Amino acid sequence: MNTDTDTLDFLDDESDAGATKELVWRLMIVDDEPDVHRATTFALSGIRILGRSLQFLHAYSAKEATALLQSETDVAVVLLDVVMEREDAGLALVKTIRKDLKLSEVRIILRTGQPGYAPEIETIHDFDINDYKTKSELTRTKLYATVTAALRAYEQIRKLDEMAFYDRLCSLPNRNKFIDLSDERLSASRSLDDVIAILDVDDFSEINDALGHQQGDRLLQAVAERLKLELGPEVILARIGGDTFGLMGPSRILDPVTVLSLFRSPFTVHGDSMVVTASMGLTQNLGNGVQGRDALKDANIALKLAKKNRRGSFVMFSTEMGTDIRERVRLLQALRHAVESERLFVVYQPQINLRSGKIVGVEALIRWRNEDSTFVPPDRFIPLAEASGMIVAIGDWVLRVSCLEQLRLKTLGLPDIRMSVNVSQIQFRHPEFLTKLSAALRDTGINPKHLELEITESVAMEDPGFMLDILHRVRAMGISIAIDDFGTGYSSLSHLRQLPIDRLKIDRAFVTELNHEVLGGHIASMVIELGRNLNLTVIAEGIEDAGQAQTLLNMGCHEGQGYLYAKPLTSQQLVQWIQAHSDTP
Ligand code: C2E
Ligand code: MG
Ligand code: MG
Repeated sequence: MNTDTDTLDFLDDESDAGATKELVWRLMIVDDEPDVHRATTFALSGIRILGRSLQFLHAYSAKEATALLQSETDVAVVLLDVVMEREDAGLALVKTIRKDLKLSEVRIILRTGQPGYAPEIETIHDFDINDYKTKSELTRTKLYATVTAALRAYEQIRKLDEMAFYDRLCSLPNRNKFIDLSDERLSASRSLDDVIAILDVDDFSEINDALGHQQGDRLLQAVAERLKLELGPEVILARIGGDTFGLMGPSRILDPVTVLSLFRSPFTVHGDSMVVTASMGLTQNLGNGVQGRDALKDANIALKLAKKNRRGSFVMFSTEMGTDIRERVRLLQALRHAVESERLFVVYQPQINLRSGKIVGVEALIRWRNEDSTFVPPDRFIPLAEASGMIVAIGDWVLRVSCLEQLRLKTLGLPDIRMSVNVSQIQFRHPEFLTKLSAALRDTGINPKHLELEITESVAMEDPGFMLDILHRVRAMGISIAIDDFGTGYSSLSHLRQLPIDRLKIDRAFVTELNHEVLGGHIASMVIELGRNLNLTVIAEGIEDAGQAQTLLNMGCHEGQGYLYAKPLTSQQLVQWIQAHSDTP
């Protein structure tokens, strides 16, 4: 044993933890009986949990607790007496914590002297209460176990929130956070002289291919570092995409000539000196209730134009930049035509049980083939179909075609597999969605237990009340639900645990990351762990090599999908693929 650490542990018990640099867990005891405060701190004295010592905050009424929670930060656990001034004082405080103070991370352990005051199950669920104990269960061992479990949960929630808002590669806010931060700044109306800009590293994918993604990662870190240092604290800096950074700040600092001149001297990357250029799209005039999200869209239109012009240049957005809109109108007309002339079809990508290697399902993916046999990628036309409302009809068609395909496989004597169909948010919000869904079930005759709907994480987290209701109804029909692109949106654990879902789909980006030196699959393993805790199956998408599959399997991931197994296949290819793969053990 290291004696230095032992001494430190000892000192920590005595000293005010705020004065030391060591990390502590902050626990708040809320109880009107001073004895309970004493007994609790005594029972937990000198204990370290998950590598940290404990620090206590004390409140003797719900009012005191509310005030403390408003002024203090990082409170991890509240040990809360149910019955204080009034019989329901404790539960009222729980509501205040979650609803008014909007503290969703703090873990709550309810305690009562009278066993009869146990809250309803729904209350425990709705307000995300971690545990319920009678005060006779306040022995040192029991308290230790309860608090440890709560701290573990707290740590996990913190990590999840961090993941939703933070880019770990460059230690910067991510796109979601950038939008939040810019909205904050816009609404504080300190921003009349501000600009919002997107900076894109030129030819980054070529650099990545030529030098390897490790070198690519390091280059991005070096760029982030320089921008942070040179632009200073007045500028909000975020990594909003693979090789793009979002910037918001005073126009005198974000003058594009000055910003781009930061790329004149080379970046030192792992001993090598690399010269790169960047392009910028900017937007100004941020008054009049502009939202961060819209400003980013404008900046992006400007960026695209800058990229078209010449590497290393910039363009300031102006409202006349209608080229993008004209292009959309053209594409939309072509899509209408494609629907009418039946140029859309559905392909199916196998989903595999990672342990047995057997097929468990397929994901239906739409395709649009032009007359000249080139394809328009769904990422290009789905957003358009959504914006124009056409997705409702197209989505209904995909659903029916996919259900029929599931049945066709069965009539060919192949084993029953799950059919996963992507559902866009516009479809989901359509008032007739449920009617159409049950009509599709009825008309095709598919067994609903073989049908799964994929909704993206951002959709699932939006407007939780509405989503919850509709998801419950879908589930009641016997259909299962998967959350697509998981890890890219704003998941709050408390929402997630309320959602009636069956599967989490780890976004491809986090599978690709498994091969990266810096990130090393942290997020993938966290999602898998999260799935385990919530009793959900976890499927990884975009598996391209056997190493990734093995790592995921070792992490406890159940299912996988990706080019390693099969690309999306036409109906005919799918049958052949299944037949070819059902003989292998
Ligand atoms: P998604 O639902 O996340 O689908 C997975 C995407 O990853 C598919 O792209 C698939 O072809 C691709 N993929 C699968 N394995 C690999 C791999 O190993 N490596 C790489 N690099 N890519 C892989 P796809 O078909 O281009 O679809 C893109 C997106 O378009 C889908 O993302 C989905 O959001 C949307 N989409 C496709 N079909 C439909 C549909 O019928 N309805 C709706 N609403 N959206 C659809
Ligand atoms: Mg999908
Ligand atoms: Mg996906």
